[in-house]
Amino acid sequence: MSSRVLITGGAGFIGSHLCDRFVAEGDEVICMDNFLTGSPDNISHLFGNPKFTFVQYNVTEFIYVEGKVDAVLHFASPASPIDYLKLPIQTLKVGSLGTHKALGFAKAKNALFLLASTSEVYGDPLMHPQKEEYWGNVNPIGVRGVYDEAKRFSEAMTMAYHRYHGLETRIVRIFNTFGPRMRLDDGRVLPAFMKQALTGEDLTAFGDGMQTRSFCYVDDLVEGVVRLLRSNCIDPVNIGNPDEITIMQFAEEIIQLTGSKSKISFMPLPEDDPKVRQPDITKARETLGWEPKVPRIEGLRRTIGYFKTKLGIK
Ligand code: UDP
Repeated sequence: MSSRVLITGGAGFIGSHLCDRFVAEGDEVICMDNFLTGSPDNISHLFGNPKFTFVQYNVTEFIYVEGKVDAVLHFASPASPIDYLKLPIQTLKVGSLGTHKALGFAKAKNALFLLASTSEVYGDPLMHPQKEEYWGNVNPIGVRGVYDEAKRFSEAMTMAYHRYHGLETRIVRIFNTFGPRMRLDDGRVLPAFMKQALTGEDLTAFGDGMQTRSFCYVDDLVEGVVRLLRSNCIDPVNIGNPDEITIMQFAEEIIQLTGSKSKISFMPLPEDDPKVRQPDITKARETLGWEPKVPRIEGLRRTIGYFKTKLGIK
């Protein structure tokens, strides 16, 4: 039976891929976004589709949608370090007030609720790789704290609605994800390096470039989210690709893949930048039968075309 789902942040990078997935499966999607960091470009291909409704709205306000709703996927939030540095209050508000509104809405509709959480709940981790049981190492008053703490609060609020109201909830901890529809100027390492490599500028490695990340292609992430939604797993689940790489290696890989002549230059490391990050995905493997299928290189190949188009390069 087809369902009706509300996706907050549905015009964002990951949100829009989720909209596509549910529409493709014959479900009805209500996409809610205020375009703070999302974009109509990400969903314009869905306009006019009878299965798709768009509502321009700030989810920190009371949410109202007529009729039944079977699931709420709460993906609204600035999510790149540059965005939440620029939008600290909005980031805190959408994680706190927005999550409260989205949970209240799910409860009123008796809908399944899925929270988009993040590897940032682990902060600058002292456990490596990161398992879901790890409580994290977060600086609450640092510049990244606005995102990290908002998401930690979101998780606490979600569990409270589950325990107190008996709401069916899921929490996905999303690790670095990439693919088409990332904003060219969102400041994240992948769009920054892609743009720099494709336009012949120096790739800006922050710090000594020895910090690590593990990049997951968006299609794999979406599959993990859908499986989690359909599971009965209340506790948080890491979804990400455990293939870890240093930022320097990543820069070299992108230079090679794009056939660029760019060099690498060094810039100061941002405050509280995690030194390592790699998901332990044992739980996702065991409880969801999920693991990433798209190797990073393949994902990067699929993504280059998108960035070229955005930059007007043939
Ligand atoms: N980074 C970099 N150059 C850039 C942008 C980011 O070296 O132009 C580094 C950043 O310091 C971090 C890593 O790349 O260590 C990933 O940063 P991103 O902003 O993509 O997200 P994060 O994983 O830190 O949330």
